[in-house]
Amino acid sequence: MRKIQMVDLKGQYNAIKDIVNPDIQEIIDNASFINGPKVHEFQKNLETYLDVKHVIPCANGTDALQIAMMGLGLKPGDEVITADFTFAATVEVIALLQLTPVLVDVNPNDFNINIEAIKKAITPKTKAIVPVHLFGQVANMEAIMELAEAHNLYVIEDNAQAIGADYTYSNGKKAKAGTIGHVGSTSFFPSKNLGCYGDGGAIFTNDDDLAHIIRGIVNHGMYERYHHDVVGVNSRLDSIQAAVLNAKLPHLDAYNKARQAAAMKYDAAFKNHENIEIPFRKSNDCEGNCATCDCHVFHQYTLKLNNVDRDGLVKFLNAHDIPCGVYYPIPLHNQKAYADERYNEADFPVTNDLVKTVISLPMHTELDDEQIEFITSKVLEYING
Ligand SMILES: *Cc1c(COP(=O)(O)O)cnc(C)c1O
Repeated sequence: MRKIQMVDLKGQYNAIKDIVNPDIQEIIDNASFINGPKVHEFQKNLETYLDVKHVIPCANGTDALQIAMMGLGLKPGDEVITADFTFAATVEVIALLQLTPVLVDVNPNDFNINIEAIKKAITPKTKAIVPVHLFGQVANMEAIMELAEAHNLYVIEDNAQAIGADYTYSNGKKAKAGTIGHVGSTSFFPSKNLGCYGDGGAIFTNDDDLAHIIRGIVNHGMYERYHHDVVGVNSRLDSIQAAVLNAKLPHLDAYNKARQAAAMKYDAAFKNHENIEIPFRKSNDCEGNCATCDCHVFHQYTLKLNNVDRDGLVKFLNAHDIPCGVYYPIPLHNQKAYADERYNEADFPVTNDLVKTVISLPMHTELDDEQIEFITSKVLEYING
C-alpha cells in the first residue's frame, strides 16, 4: 500500500505536469513574474467557472478577507459577526482592521454558522456577517442574505474551503459558493481544493463599484499610477501561481468528484454506527449521494464521535501511520488573542462540544480503495474495541 498522507498533491501534479512545466518555464524565460498574462487569463477563466462578474486575484486567502472588508469601507468599532468554529484567519483580519469580532455558535449538523445565534448577536453597530463554508459545505446563505437585507448588513463569504461547491436556493436556483454574498474570498493554499504551488487567493464580487475599489486596494490604493487615493496593500497573485491554477481549474470539478467519491466510501463504512456521525449533507434531494450533487466538496472529511476517546483514536491512527487532524481543537472565543469578557460559555454549546469530538480523516484526490479500506478498518477497530 502507498503511504497514506493527509493531503497528497503528487498525483495531481503528474497529471498536469506537461502543461504546467512549460508554462512556468515560459514565465521564467519572459521574466513576466508579476502581472503577467497568465494572471489575467486565470482571472477570466475563474470568472467564467464561477459565473461571477469580477475575480480579483491576490496573495492569499487571509489577504482576500482583509481586502474585502477594506473594500466595503468597514470602520474601527463596526461589529462583524462570524463563526466561533473556524480557522483563525477569519477573525484575525477583523481584529487587525480594528473592527469588533462577534463570534457566534455553529450548527450541530453541518458545523456552519447558526442563524439564530446571528440574530441574537445583531446590534445597531453590526455591519457585516462572515459565513465560513466550513470543510466544503455552504452555509445557509438564503437565511443569511435575508437577515442581511433586513438589517442592512454586508455579507462576506469566506470560501477558502468550498471552491466549486454548489448552493441550491429553495426555488431550485443554483449558485457557486462565494458568489452569493456581496463579496466572497478564497485561498489557493496548496492543500485547498484548488491549490497552487505556494500562496495565492482571490476575491469575488458581482458589484462593479466594489470590484473597482478592491482592484485599487490590492495595488497600494492606486487607481492611476503613483496616485494613491486610498490606503491599500500589496497583495498579488504571481504569474507562476496563476499558471498552476490555470492548468488545474479545468480539473476542479473532477478533483471535487474524487473527494466526494472518497467521502462516500468513508460514509459506507461508518454510517449507522452508534458512535459515529458521518458528515451531514445539506441538500434534501441528494441524501448523501455525492454522485448526483455538489453540495459538499469535502475540503475535510470530518466525523463527529459520540462516547469515543477522540485523542486516543488520533494516537492509535498515527501509530498505524494514518495521519489525521483535529480541525479545530480550540474555540476561537477561547483563544488568547480573541478572548473577551463579552463572551459567555453558555452561548457556545455546539462549538465547545465539537472541539472535543471531531476528527478529520485523510482527504485528497489521490486516495485509493486499499488506503480507504485500511483507514476505515483501523478507525472501527479502535472504536469497536
Ligand atoms: C485557509 C483558510 C484561510 C486563509 O487562507 P490563506 O491562503 O492560508 O491565507 C481563511 N479562512 C479559512 C476558513 C481557511 O480555511
